[in-house]
Amino acid sequence: MAAASPVSPFHIVHTVCSHDCPDSCGVLVTVNAEGRAVKIQGDPAHPVTQGFLCGKVAKYLDRVYSPDRVLYPLKRKPGVAKEPRPRGREMEAFVRVSWDEALDGIATRLKQVAERYGPESILPYSYAGNMGLLGYGSMDRRFFHRLGASQLDRTICSEAGGQAWNLVYGRKLGTPTEDFRLAKLIVAWGANIHGNNIHLWPFIEQARRNGGRLIVIDPYRTRTAALADWHIAIRPGTDAALALGMMHVILREGLEDRAYIDAMTHGFGELKERVREYTPEKVAAWTGMSASQVKSLAREYASTRPAVIRLNYGVQRSENGGANVRAIAMLPALTGAWKHRGGGAQLSTSGAFRWNEDALRRPDLAQRSPLGRLARTVNMSTLGFALTELGRNGHAHEGHPVHALFVYNSNPGAVAPNHHAVVRGLMRDDLFTVVHEQFFTDTTDYADYVLPATTFLEHTDAQGAYGHYFVQWSHQAIEPVGEARSNVWLFGRLAQRMGFEEECFRDTPEAMIHQALGVNGGGRSTNPGMEHIAVNELKAKGHVPLAFHREPESAPFQPYVSGELPTPSGKVEFCSATLAAQGQDPLPAFVPPVESRWGAEAKRYPMELLGRKNDNYMNSTFANLEGHRKMEKHKAGKLEMHPADAAARGIGEGDRVRIFNDRGELRLTALLADALPAGVVAGRLDWAKFHPEAANINVLTSERLTDIGGSPTFYSVLVEVEKAGA
Ligand code: SF4
Repeated sequence: MAAASPVSPFHIVHTVCSHDCPDSCGVLVTVNAEGRAVKIQGDPAHPVTQGFLCGKVAKYLDRVYSPDRVLYPLKRKPGVAKEPRPRGREMEAFVRVSWDEALDGIATRLKQVAERYGPESILPYSYAGNMGLLGYGSMDRRFFHRLGASQLDRTICSEAGGQAWNLVYGRKLGTPTEDFRLAKLIVAWGANIHGNNIHLWPFIEQARRNGGRLIVIDPYRTRTAALADWHIAIRPGTDAALALGMMHVILREGLEDRAYIDAMTHGFGELKERVREYTPEKVAAWTGMSASQVKSLAREYASTRPAVIRLNYGVQRSENGGANVRAIAMLPALTGAWKHRGGGAQLSTSGAFRWNEDALRRPDLAQRSPLGRLARTVNMSTLGFALTELGRNGHAHEGHPVHALFVYNSNPGAVAPNHHAVVRGLMRDDLFTVVHEQFFTDTTDYADYVLPATTFLEHTDAQGAYGHYFVQWSHQAIEPVGEARSNVWLFGRLAQRMGFEEECFRDTPEAMIHQALGVNGGGRSTNPGMEHIAVNELKAKGHVPLAFHREPESAPFQPYVSGELPTPSGKVEFCSATLAAQGQDPLPAFVPPVESRWGAEAKRYPMELLGRKNDNYMNSTFANLEGHRKMEKHKAGKLEMHPADAAARGIGEGDRVRIFNDRGELRLTALLADALPAGVVAGRLDWAKFHPEAANINVLTSERLTDIGGSPTFYSVLVEVEKAGA
């Protein structure tokens, strides 16, 4: 959609915010006669965006036109070491080159690595720094499949929770965001809605105006928790215990919905037996709640209709994250909350978007690689291991060490766990590293080539969402800034430099969107649930709802209320046939994390650490912009401690403290607050280069993985804290 008046020198272009956020906002960009974006606003016609943007993106033009943007391809100067560089001096390590020179140089080096060690020694590394359909995974996947590079298991954020949800329901669907307004009870469980899902908030406010209550379950008093009717600050990683304790009370008091259970679920008898042991008293001892609070919560949840749970990915970032999500996800099935419009739960809506991913990503191209098959898979959550140990321990099945790393849509130098191991790997002289980025980051400091990347204003894309049910078209609003190029352009051109002759490497972005939509001769999608979408209409309107969400008032969408589900039993699985077949416990249970107050290491490292995200950054994105840093300045460089823990260590407000465990140490300034329970401390994720020691909270996190999904355990971390020496 590009609207221009015959007299106005401005035109308005519909784009979509591609940052890693459930809201996937429709964004209107006003462009002047010179082709410069001069205004950005939320699309008022989008039912979830409702015309406003979050504080992170409202000033997005400062980012697009920042003087700090990487504007052209850069190559490391010969002999300049890969090491952390102070902010503002990164350019000293590089020399400007043309795109031709960069593409030729990268292609030559990748060919050498592939010939010498095999193509699997090349590792792509990307995540949701760009959530566009094309930007997230399209031409890049074609390229790496054809090359035979290692496949990346993209686990760093949502895999544990996503797999856990699917074990219960088969597919990630949830209560429509717009229907939260109808709820009489909203439970935000590990969900800082005000910080990172802000477009749900107006619907919650509406529900509260109509008498609804908001309960927040979160170890930390977030902005959302501070606004709640009841904030329950449970200990990190004890969510499954609480959910199972709620089930215990619900079943003991006969508050379950037997009709729903009989019609729609599998394994109720086994679950009932399991939760018998989760008495409120036991659960209280684990969570830090009182037994009467556990009972009150269970009663209020089960007896209020509609009751909805907004579950977010925080609960799955501990060792038992999969069990946490499974147990919480079962609650609305036990009480039949799905039957009441406005009730149910939402973790993610992403399972509703049935793109034709094979056409988009072409896994078949792996057959044409030198391997003649799909390559090995490397878990991105163990990048430190992958770069320093994989293939070096004499385990033949691991294959070759990684000799080339291609980073895009991500900043592993800041966000990956076990930071010291990651950096040791990135500093290897024999590792060839390419980074496609918009700014110099903690990762570009270790790159052989830095390539300039576009923002969502500068390329064409389409997008689904994990927080609503609308397909959107993102038009290119402005020409790329400097020599920035999109992922599609980069990997298409690089494929041609590598000598890949398949026509698909010349596809245009629009052609690729058509492929993902499965567009037929009539210009309509053939994908399930998208058959009503005509490309021309989508381009003109900017957003179109999925089929089941077209008539929200006369035919509201309520998932899991009837029919067969895509689980082995066809029902909501309290008892998982899939886990049973794998020889695992098919029922949810609370197993205290190894790195928790119940673990053996707690004697040496008694404090549980939360490495928290900032409300005004998106993981590590935006942390380099002055306006955003100002909004976070009260918590930047601080360690939040309960006054009792501080007093026990002789630590006062404003003291420098040393936080340490066997993996690393970090010095921060103590901020005494009761925003978290005793025994828990919290620091913020920031770029390492902003810290005097060139380190961040991830020097303390481990590469231990979650029980389900192989995801990182950012919130199962033990540390000790002491006053720092002079
Ligand atoms: S970050 Fe989220 S809330 Fe902010 S504009 Fe983007 S999609 Fe919307």
